Amino acid sequence: MPRRGGVTDHNAAMNNKAETNMATHQGHCFCGAVEIEVNGAPEAMGYCHCNACRSWSAAPVNAFTLWKPENVRVTTGAGLVGHFMKTSMSDRQYCTKCGGHLMTNHPPLGMVDVYAATIPSVAFTPALHVNYAETVLPIRDGLPKLKDFPAEMGGSGTVLPE
Ligand SMILES: [Zn+2]
Ligand SMILES: [Zn+2]
Repeated sequence: MPRRGGVTDHNAAMNNKAETNMATHQGHCFCGAVEIEVNGAPEAMGYCHCNACRSWSAAPVNAFTLWKPENVRVTTGAGLVGHFMKTSMSDRQYCTKCGGHLMTNHPPLGMVDVYAATIPSVAFTPALHVNYAETVLPIRDGLPKLKDFPAEMGGSGTVLPE
C-alpha cells in the first residue's frame, strides 16, 4: 500500500482543492424530498469514531466533511427538515419523510458536518481520524488517529497508534 501524506499526495490534494473551489455539489436525503447544495470546498474531511456519531448514524464510523454554514444550502424541501439537539454542540438535521440524515450543524465550531454519503460527488479525501479512543472499527490507512479532537478544535491533540 502506498504511503499516505507524502509530498505528491499533498500537492494532489491542494490541486484538487483549487479545482473544486468554485464547484457546486448537490445531495439529497434517502427519499429525495430534501435536496441540498454545497459550494466551494470543505474545510476538513475525515472519519469520526465517537459513540454519538455511531449511535446517530447506526454505523461503525462517520465519514464527515466540514463546511462553513454559508456554503451549505437546503434547495428543496426545507419544510421537511427535522432538527434534534441532544446537546448544544450538535443540531442534527434529517428528513422527516424518510428519516434519512442530512447534516449536523456544530454552532460552537462554526462548522456544518455534511455527511460524505449525502454529497457523493464531492471527492472524499480524508485527512485524519478523530475520537479514535472510542473506535469499534480500527482502520489501518496510515492517517493520523487522534484520541479525541485536534488541539485547535479544543481537543487534546493526542495521536494514538492505529
Ligand atoms: Zn427523505
Ligand atoms: Zn463523532
